[in-house]
This record gives sequence, C-alpha cells and structure tokens, in this order.
Amino acid sequence: MELWFSEKHTDHCLFSVKVKQHLLSEKSIYQQIDVFDTEDFGIILVLDGFINVCQKDEFIYHEMITHVPMASNPDIKSVLIIGGGDGGTTRELLRYDTIEKVDLVEIDEAVVQTALKYLPFTSCMLHHPKLKLYFEDGVNFVNEKNNLYDLIIIDSTDPIGPGEGLFTKEFYQNCYQALTEKGILINQNGSPYYERDALAMIKATKKMESIFDLVKVYQYHLPTYPSGHYLFGFASKKIDPTAHLDADRWNSLGLATKYYNTALHLGAFALPNYVIDLIK
Ligand code: SAM
Repeated sequence: MELWFSEKHTDHCLFSVKVKQHLLSEKSIYQQIDVFDTEDFGIILVLDGFINVCQKDEFIYHEMITHVPMASNPDIKSVLIIGGGDGGTTRELLRYDTIEKVDLVEIDEAVVQTALKYLPFTSCMLHHPKLKLYFEDGVNFVNEKNNLYDLIIIDSTDPIGPGEGLFTKEFYQNCYQALTEKGILINQNGSPYYERDALAMIKATKKMESIFDLVKVYQYHLPTYPSGHYLFGFASKKIDPTAHLDADRWNSLGLATKYYNTALHLGAFALPNYVIDLIK
C-alpha cells in the first residue's frame, strides 16, 4: 500500500509527498513530532502537521536566514537563535571563525533529540564548544537582557502553538533591548501568497517597524513550504542589508554555498509588486 504525507497549505490545498518510511511519531510536551523518509525530498521533520525541515531543500532556508545578516555586518560575534532545534542555522553560523558564541534557545528538547537521531545533516554542530543550548521559552529568555547580542535569529514555527509569543510587540521590544548598538534581528515571516500567512507577515512587520529604525523583508524560494515563496524579516538599529553589504569582503571568506551569493543577497530585497503593496 502506498503511504503519503499531506500538509494542508490552505483549507482547499494539500501538498503531498510519497513516503518510503514513517520513522518517528511522538507527542512531546509541546507538539506532535513526525519524521518521514520520502521519495523525492529525503528526510522531513514535521511538527504539528507542518514540514519544518526537509533534507533536500533545507540549505535554502538555512543559508538565507544566516548569510544575509552575516554578510551585512562582518563584526557579528555574539548570536542568539530562538527555536532552530534542528541545528541547521547553528551549522551555517559556526562556519564563521569570527563568531565567538551562539546561544540557542529551543522550547522543546524533544526536537533537538529527534534532530540528533534522524537529521545529522542539520544537527552536526549541536555539540560545538561555541554553542550553548537552553531548553526554555524564547519569549521569557529575552526578558531583561541588555546589549548582549549582535544578531538574534528567530528560527521559529509559525504563529500558532508554542511559536505564538514570538510574534508579539513586547517580544520584539525585548529583542531590541537585548541587541547591541549595531544589532540585527531576523525573523521567519511566512509566505506572502496565502492570505492567512500574508496577514501574519504584515502584522509582524508593522510591529517591528514601530520599534526598529530599519525594517525590510527579503524573499527566498523553498519548494516544500506553502506556495514555495517565503519571506524573512530583517530589522536593525543601524545596518542596512543592501547599502552595507561588502560583497568583496564576504566573497573573500571563500564560504561555499549552494543558494546564497552576494548578487542574490541584493536581489532578495527586490520584492514583487504584490508584496510591496501588502507591506505598504
Ligand atoms: N524552518 C522551520 C520552519 O518550518 O519554520 C523552523 C525550524 S525549527 C525546528 C522551529 C523550532 O521553534 C521548533 O523546534 C519549535 O519547538 C521551536 N519553538 C517554537 N516556539 C518556541 C518558543 N516560544 N521558544 C523557543 N523555541 C520555540
């Protein structure tokens, strides 16, 4: 009998992949965790029915969430990741020798354990000495932290379930406090294509605009996420990701990437008209 995994992208749209093996089905304190080995997409990690990590296209997500801020400010030394228990963002960050410490705050220890067992391609740096793991809610973690991080990456699930508190104005305000003078915040901003996701993105962007001096949105294309067209938010106190990009400097690092390059970095901030209209 054929086995398929289907994710509901809207009430009227399903995305289905053929499954070779259902490797894990487990309920943690926070969410339902599934791991599938699939025909075309390799291993996929599914949280509460939504694909969070996919072996074949995770490089797109993790390169774009990491290299865009790192190339915008080469002085980043101290980083906070909220969510990201699969380890993919950590893996990309720790390729920079200039990074001195990474704090990773994942609410659900079961996600990290699952990644260590089934997703070695993302979890390979989770035991690195520069990394400190905290198993707690990122919302509480950023409370009363001042001037500590050059970069905060919110590598979270969507604004439902445990991820909900990571999309509030209070939380962004606390992140602002926790950032250093040239601090950058990156957040997972969903897809602009489907109405429900677009509304969440607009709300998050407006909240950030009321706190940060500079807020931009950039795009990337990920086959396994709803509509395939996804956005990250870039908010900062001083750094402009296009004006301050020093392409020669980043290229001289010699980091091999499969998706990111400095021309694409600039292009990613050039948005389609319908997305510009949504943000306006
Ligand atoms: N690339 C992913 C996606 O599909 O959006 C995100 C990857 S990562 C696995 C998301 C993680 O955020 C999950 O492991 C989840 O447990 C964690 N998370 C959700 N809410 C959180 C919170 N309030 N504090 C810390 N981590 C949280």
